[in-house]
Amino acid sequence: MIESIKAGFTIDKEIKKDPFLYRRIIMTAALLIFTTITFGVFVFINFDDDNYILPLVNFIISICAALALYSLIVKKSFNFSAYFATIFLFTFLVIFSYFARNESFALVWTLCYPLFVIPILGTRKGMIMVVLFYLAIIPMAYLGIGEWDYGFWNLKGFVRFTIASLAIVYASYFFEVSANSAYKTIQEIREKEKLHLLELEKLSVTDQLTGLRNRRYFDDNFAIEHQKIKRYNNKLCLILIDIDHFKRINDEYGHQVGDIVLKEFSELLSKNIRATDLLSRWGGEEFIILLPETSLENSMGIAEKIHTVINEYSFSNIGDLTASFGVSKVDPNSKSNIESFYQVDTALYQAKNQGRNRVVAYENKT
Ligand code: GH3
Ligand code: MG
Ligand code: MG
Repeated sequence: MIESIKAGFTIDKEIKKDPFLYRRIIMTAALLIFTTITFGVFVFINFDDDNYILPLVNFIISICAALALYSLIVKKSFNFSAYFATIFLFTFLVIFSYFARNESFALVWTLCYPLFVIPILGTRKGMIMVVLFYLAIIPMAYLGIGEWDYGFWNLKGFVRFTIASLAIVYASYFFEVSANSAYKTIQEIREKEKLHLLELEKLSVTDQLTGLRNRRYFDDNFAIEHQKIKRYNNKLCLILIDIDHFKRINDEYGHQVGDIVLKEFSELLSKNIRATDLLSRWGGEEFIILLPETSLENSMGIAEKIHTVINEYSFSNIGDLTASFGVSKVDPNSKSNIESFYQVDTALYQAKNQGRNRVVAYENKT
């Protein structure tokens, strides 16, 4: 029991994120605590051997408020507690005003109603309750002119009371509306910021021309995969691809055509790798593929397949094109990524040296 009450008092993160819900819960709880304690005290104040009805009513009200508080805190049934608190306050203030007849300014308590109900129920439902409340209170106060307060309750007093009540309703309503719209604006700004941040994050790891992952992204992921193979002794391979005589394409057809070729080349590579492989633009006309859980033999097969696809493809504007491939297995014991890149670059260099347009695997001579 104590544990569940303790748990109830720890406010959920979701609720804290919504300041309006948070405020509503706090105000409902405050109203219910106030009701429980006040009517609990009234039980003793009104205790009388002859009249047991009044203390009994006070006792029932105090218990009901305590139960509503329990359901709010432990069961987290906010709606039930909110309606209970506001309908109870409504009924109590109307009955109280009827019997108290503004003796000792008793009507002043009715000003609490809009102050509590609008923040608890929100602007729409809160205003409906407030209008219903004043439809009961104002005619009653009007009918009391000349009768209440030994005849001191006159038209002037009634008008003052009505204007003060309307001013409080107006202030509560517009405070709620403006606070709501300010909150909405802040939420919208936050959402936009979140989207911008995501966009920026994406841009920071994407190559602008080809839309492939950039070298930064590749380096980060390579470092992670490298750690994995060190720990689990998995296989990991690299394929480095360099377009042959790309400079000639630029010189002959212009830089723009060169760019188009790079894009088409990237698409071709993307289509021919597996979902688990990571393709990235390494720089200029060089591309790199990281192949987790893949042997050197299988990586050679994949490189050969891509090689064939490129050879068979006809690029727009330029037609045929060839590329050279270096393939290497990442050594789990290599001290740095530079060592792995050096190996795959060496294989690529050999492919170029042997006449380009081929796939060469790195051979460890030591
Ligand atoms: P090799 O067969 O030895 O690789 O010859 P290559 O001409 O492909 O190699 P080199 O490294 O000499 O030239 C690469 C060229 O790629 C030079 C550079 O102008 C061009 N290049 C690099 N980035 C881009 C780019 O984003 N767009 C275009 N159009 N060209 C680029
Ligand atoms: Mg190059
Ligand atoms: Mg080249």
